[in-house]
Amino acid sequence: MVRRDFLKTSIIAGTIAVCETPGALAQEQATENNGMPRLVPPAKPAELNLCLQYGAIPGAEMKEKLDFLEANGFASVETGGGDWLINNADALAKELEGRKLFVSAVCAGYKGDFASADQATRRLAVDSCKPLLEKAGMLKSCGLIVCPARRNVGMAFPELRDDFVKNTGRELAEHAVKFNTSIVLEPLQRSETMFLRLVADGAAIARDIGPGCTVMGDFWHMSKEENSFMGAFLSAGKLLSHVHIASLKGRQIPGVDGSADNYTDGFKGLKLLGYRGAVSLEGGFPKDSDRKQLILNMVKLLREQWIVA
Ligand code: MG
Repeated sequence: MVRRDFLKTSIIAGTIAVCETPGALAQEQATENNGMPRLVPPAKPAELNLCLQYGAIPGAEMKEKLDFLEANGFASVETGGGDWLINNADALAKELEGRKLFVSAVCAGYKGDFASADQATRRLAVDSCKPLLEKAGMLKSCGLIVCPARRNVGMAFPELRDDFVKNTGRELAEHAVKFNTSIVLEPLQRSETMFLRLVADGAAIARDIGPGCTVMGDFWHMSKEENSFMGAFLSAGKLLSHVHIASLKGRQIPGVDGSADNYTDGFKGLKLLGYRGAVSLEGGFPKDSDRKQLILNMVKLLREQWIVA
C-alpha cells in the first residue's frame, strides 16, 4: 500500500472508530425519545404555591385573612410596600408564626423614580426602597418588586440601563443581600413603559447587577409582550423569583375570561425550572361578584392546569 492510500484508509477507519458508537447510541436514544431533546428534570420538582395580595384576601383582620389563605389552598401572601409594610411587618411576622404560609414578594410602594433625569429623585427611589428591603428580609420574602422605569423616562435607554446596573439598582441589590432578599425586577408592557417589557431583558439586567437582583413574570404583561410564556420563564432561569397572574382578557381573577385563561404553557416553563416561588393574583374582581367563590374557582382552575402542564 502506498503511503497516500494508507493515510486515506486510516482516516476513514479512524473516523468510523470515533463516530460509530456515539452515532449509534444517539440514534437509539433519538428513537426512544421520538427525536425530541432530552430534558434534565430539576433536582427538586416545581411546586404550585398559590398566593394572594394582602388587600385581595377576604376578611377584615390579619388573622382572619391568613386563616382564609390556609383554609383555601394558598401557600403564600404578597404584601404591600410603603408605610403599610413599615407599620405592619412585625405584626405580620408574629401572625405567621406556626403557620405554613410564606411571604412571597413585597409589592413596590417606594417613592422617587429610577428613570428621572433628576439625581435627587433617583436618590429618593434608592433611599425609600432600603427600609422596605429590610422588612422584606425580616419576613423572609424573595424581595421587593421594583420597576426601573414607567412612562416618563428622563434618560436615554442605554444611559438609564447603565445607571441602574452600576448605581441605583446595584446599590439596592447590595443592600438586599445583607438582608437575604432581593430587588425583583418586573417587566411591564409597552403602554406602561418601553424600557423593560420582556422577562429575558429583566433577567439580563439582574444578571449584570449580580447577587441581590432577581426578575419576575406577570402573565398579564407577558400576554401582551412575549411570544411564549414558557420561553419567557425559561429565559429567566434561576433568576425567576416571583409570578403574577390574572385573567387574560380583562386582568381580573383567572377563570372569569373563560377559555382565554389558559396558563399551561407558562406552567410548563415553571415546571422545567423547578420553580418553587409564588404564583400571585394581581387582578381585579367583576363588579358585585362573590369574591370568595371566584377565588375558590381560581384555585381549582390553576390546580387543574398545573397538573396537565
Ligand atoms: Mg404585576
